[in-house]
Amino acid sequence: MKVTIFGTGYVGLVTGACLAEMGNHVACVDIDAAKVERLTRGEIPIYEPGLEPIVKRNHASGQLDFTTDAAPAIAHGQVLFIAVGTPPDEDGSADLKYVLGVARTIGQHLDRYAVVVNKSTVPVGTADRVRKAIADELAARGVQVEFDVVSNPEFLKEGDAVEDCLRPDRIIIGSSSERAVGVLRKLYAPFNRNHDRTVVMDERSAELTKYAANAMLATKISFMNEIANIAERVGADVELVRQGIGSDPRIGYHFIYPGAGYGGSCFPKDVQALERTARGVGYEARLLGAVESVNHEQKGKLFELVSRHFDGDLKGRTIALWGLAFKPNTDDMREASSRRVMEALWDAGAKVRAFDPEAREETHRIYGDRPDLVLCDSAYQALDGADVLAIVTEWKAFRSPDFARIRAALKSPAIFDGRNLYDPAAVEEAGLAYYGIGRGRSL
Ligand code: NAD
Repeated sequence: MKVTIFGTGYVGLVTGACLAEMGNHVACVDIDAAKVERLTRGEIPIYEPGLEPIVKRNHASGQLDFTTDAAPAIAHGQVLFIAVGTPPDEDGSADLKYVLGVARTIGQHLDRYAVVVNKSTVPVGTADRVRKAIADELAARGVQVEFDVVSNPEFLKEGDAVEDCLRPDRIIIGSSSERAVGVLRKLYAPFNRNHDRTVVMDERSAELTKYAANAMLATKISFMNEIANIAERVGADVELVRQGIGSDPRIGYHFIYPGAGYGGSCFPKDVQALERTARGVGYEARLLGAVESVNHEQKGKLFELVSRHFDGDLKGRTIALWGLAFKPNTDDMREASSRRVMEALWDAGAKVRAFDPEAREETHRIYGDRPDLVLCDSAYQALDGADVLAIVTEWKAFRSPDFARIRAALKSPAIFDGRNLYDPAAVEEAGLAYYGIGRGRSL
């Protein structure tokens, strides 16, 4: 089929590449000319495991193209995906300016039936607004063209995006148009070979499903962080508690890791946006507010532990940080916990020596050159001249380090394990002080 995708970010580029991989002809449109130019040269602007070969292969074969020119791309696609950003507005609600901008562009050029599919995470009711924006532009042109608008939220996870896209848990199609549902069933058929993963529902339910999924996941994290904070105060180890509760199949082991708080481009903004949506219809979503505030406090936790270790005097200290990205297998730094930790350390007069396997360039893009930040080439290089080590992102490469080497390198041998990667006893046996999250010994 012929497909057009607006937005070549994490969602748009991965979706475009995977649809091309299945034999579709995909045109990817972005307003960021520099990004389109890099993609056309075969450079992938984001780090996502497995993405580069798929993009390169399909670009070379002519199945996947990149452009800034919306008009021919709209003429190309039977299915037009909207996969642009929906950042938080000043009050926390989702800013729809990019989504509605694409809708207007579609209305300005559409000249035959197409299915407009919204993949961006958008508040309930956005499908109606997209429909109206397209219809207004068509009316302004004085033309009548049939089209359908479908809500098809995306559930891929950064770091596993290609795998999630090729083998989705579910494909939500929110539409009351049989014609549009038929087109999407055909497009997604190759992703459903093993079994049908499609769930068809109305648009509003589809839009709410995405927010509910992210809010549930964020709730699990904040819940475990709350338990960790209790564990710490009562002398219990939250890691044992985690295993103890995860064995109940109604709870399960997934996504119940306590740590230095959640970040990324989705959970913080989606929890907030859902809360604002609820408020807008006269409902106070108390649980969502609590999820957010627990997370906000948790992001300050690592700094608090380090600061307490030095009796609040961090001036002139150097802290080694392992992990900058908001989670492993990505270079994404949006709302990353590392940013809160680094900024608090700098405010307190400390220096940071940091290592991340992928997020070095992005960190440099955000903070530039500054005397209190050294971005290192390896985990052990980050320890040179550092007082203590803090772990912020749970990259696999950090799971089994040489504790003797860490001890020898640090001036004040201590590990602040923001992701509970290590066995406290093993760290202490190696001669280092250990601080974790909710491990009954931090206070
Ligand atoms: P992103 O910021 O990485 O990319 C968005 C892209 O859209 C940018 O390249 C931008 O230049 C482009 N854009 C903006 N206006 C445009 C226009 N008029 N025409 C063409 N391109 C335009 O965003 P993302 O992380 O891919 O997220 C996109 C949407 O998907 C958001 O609503 C997000 O909440 C949702 N989502 C993201 C993830 C994720 O893991 N990142 C997962 C599921 C859903």
